Amino acid sequence: MKGETVLVVEDEEDIRELISYNLKREGFEVVALNTGEAGLNAALESPPSLAMLDIMLPGLSGLEVCKKLKSNELTKHVPVILVSAKGDETDVIVGLELGADDYISKPFSPRILVARAKAVIRRGTLNQSDDDSQLLIHQLSMHPGRFEAVIAGKALSLTASEFKILHYLARHPGWVFTRAQIVDAVRGDDYPVTERSIDVQIVGIRKKLGDFDNYIETVRGIGYRFREKGPVKPEGPLK
Ligand code: CA
Repeated sequence: MKGETVLVVEDEEDIRELISYNLKREGFEVVALNTGEAGLNAALESPPSLAMLDIMLPGLSGLEVCKKLKSNELTKHVPVILVSAKGDETDVIVGLELGADDYISKPFSPRILVARAKAVIRRGTLNQSDDDSQLLIHQLSMHPGRFEAVIAGKALSLTASEFKILHYLARHPGWVFTRAQIVDAVRGDDYPVTERSIDVQIVGIRKKLGDFDNYIETVRGIGYRFREKGPVKPEGPLK
């Protein structure tokens, strides 16, 4: 991770130092600041490879910094990881909907922190692919142009909405999406999609995935994500 700069904004000194130390040890350059305002200014001056923002900051909160970064041309492509206090699900949901790429909850292990940072930076460069090309992940293959989905060699018969939802999740393995984000992604169908109906659609998709139903993981209190890593089977359901 040479040459990658991580902006860390955290008002608690101990945590700021813990994060900085672990990222530096992995070769990241770290700019560590203690207020949202300072973090925002630093990002606008020199956009980092990643911004790691504590949500609860005095003054400008991590969510407000995230919103400003994601709405500015200069910084909207900077991946954001939010650092939340335990149980702060509402803030995490708001943050994801503002465009944050991932979140970690306190207390976290340094290894998880570093792994998430690397993954988010990697995704930033991987996920530029266009919508219509073939997608291959684990045992799933999807081709939106042909409206084809195949799992372990077997064709899946999905409705248009199911296809869109599965494709949306599978294009971003490991990313957590809220129901509202999924609604936005499938909008354009000729019937109204509600957040509640997303749950119903997910049940339907899992049923059709059969043995591979644990590709779609429920993230309690937040939403859904497509499983990032194998082995996917054999293993108990992750619901
Ligand atoms: Ca804080």
